[in-house]
Amino acid sequence: DIVALFISDQKMPGMQGVEFLEAIKEYYPDAKKILLTAYSDINAAIKAINDVQLDYYLMKPWDPPEEKLYPIINEILDDWQIYFKPEFHGIKLIGYQWTKHSHTIKDFLAGNLIPYLWLNIELDEEAKSLIKLGNIECKDLPALFFEDGTILKRPSLTELANKIGLKSTASQKLYDVTIIGAGPAGLAAAVYGASEGLRTLLIDRRAPGGQAGTSSRIENYLGFPTGISGSELTRRAITQAERLGAEFLTPVEVVEINLKETYKSIILSDGTEIKTLSIIIATGVDYARLQTKGIEELTGAGIYYGAATTEANACSQEDVYIVGGGNSAGQAAMYLSKFAKNVSILIRRDSLKYTMSQYLIEQIEATSNIQLLTKAAITEVTGEKQLEYINLSIEGKENVKLSAKSLFIFIGTRPYT
Ligand SMILES: Cc1cc2nc3c(=O)[nH]c(=O)nc-3n(C[C@H](O)[C@H](O)[C@H](O)COP(=O)(O)OP(=O)(O)OC[C@H]3O[C@@H](n4cnc5c(N)ncnc54)[C@H](O)[C@@H]3O)c2cc1C
Repeated sequence: DIVALFISDQKMPGMQGVEFLEAIKEYYPDAKKILLTAYSDINAAIKAINDVQLDYYLMKPWDPPEEKLYPIINEILDDWQIYFKPEFHGIKLIGYQWTKHSHTIKDFLAGNLIPYLWLNIELDEEAKSLIKLGNIECKDLPALFFEDGTILKRPSLTELANKIGLKSTASQKLYDVTIIGAGPAGLAAAVYGASEGLRTLLIDRRAPGGQAGTSSRIENYLGFPTGISGSELTRRAITQAERLGAEFLTPVEVVEINLKETYKSIILSDGTEIKTLSIIIATGVDYARLQTKGIEELTGAGIYYGAATTEANACSQEDVYIVGGGNSAGQAAMYLSKFAKNVSILIRRDSLKYTMSQYLIEQIEATSNIQLLTKAAITEVTGEKQLEYINLSIEGKENVKLSAKSLFIFIGTRPYT
């Protein structure tokens, strides 16, 4: 059992409080300790600060408790919480940080709101001992360790989806409405369809939430005055849609739609057919790709479209680069600045004012580890297996070659139809 705090009276029958706190140290070394004392016990309490690493001694009486007891307990519990690392019981994903396959799996788990622990084989001792235990070779990575003892080596997304219980086959012969795409538009349609009692099917090729699901903080969504993360918005919306009776399939891609006499036929990428009376296409947009030498080859291996929330931890204490001057780039910069040493935003124009909301510009200006490089364009990226260098042309300067491990691209979108 985990115990955060022991509070003991100094005067107890059979044992002194200090002795008790000394004894529990062996079993709960990380628990905080408070000794309750009377005026006459003060010397014992002061001695206990060193002897039993006492965190606080509290003199009786503590009236009023709102003033003299509760704030102290709160403060000590907060302090304990900061250093407390709960043992992780969910899925453990082990792999090399800078590979496309690792990134795809992280992105898929995060998008589908499945908690997981990422362990970098090059840095984490736990990863090394787990692969030894599971008889996994490096060529089998990325590998997933599940709580029931099963291990998936280099799984496809469909294998992974089956293992974690995502639904990819429809349960009904005919639907009233089928919605293709589970971004905010598709999710809203599913909520309304299901709430009207229609047999409603929602399909997404990746995960619920769409682009909005990858946003670190949405501040202009009605009804959330302090903003909401994309994943939390998604969690709420998909829960609402399913509670009202909508069925959700993922990862399932629609590749063809045919009009039949009395119904519409939807063909999925695995060849199965779904019959429906009506279809709502809410396939949204896809990221516009940066057509610069080297980008395509290194996408997923240090270069990402979106994905700031998935890869932020890996950028810890690194220099991170963002291309783009829109709101999604601004949100990503704010989010990554909490992890990275420095965040540089590269834009071709001379200011963010043409493309970014004022509230984000102000947040960026007030963040000391974000810098803006204006009139800058990437001319090439290079790296053997992962991103290593960004070549940059900046107006009025010689061409610059920057050493870089992470580049996030937000240069707009194009319709995904
Ligand atoms: C990082 C980021 C931050 C953002 N922040 C904000 C913000 O703060 N405020 C704001 O107003 N807007 C923001 N946006 C924009 C907002 O997210 C989009 O306008 C919104 O997500 C569009 O919703 P949608 O449902 O139309 O499409 P999308 O969100 O694009 O969803 C479309 C879905 O369709 C699925 N799909 C596509 N084709 C198929 C197929 N053939 N079969 C099955 N599924 C398919 C896709 O996988 C996707 O999940 C942000 C966007 C990004 C990327």
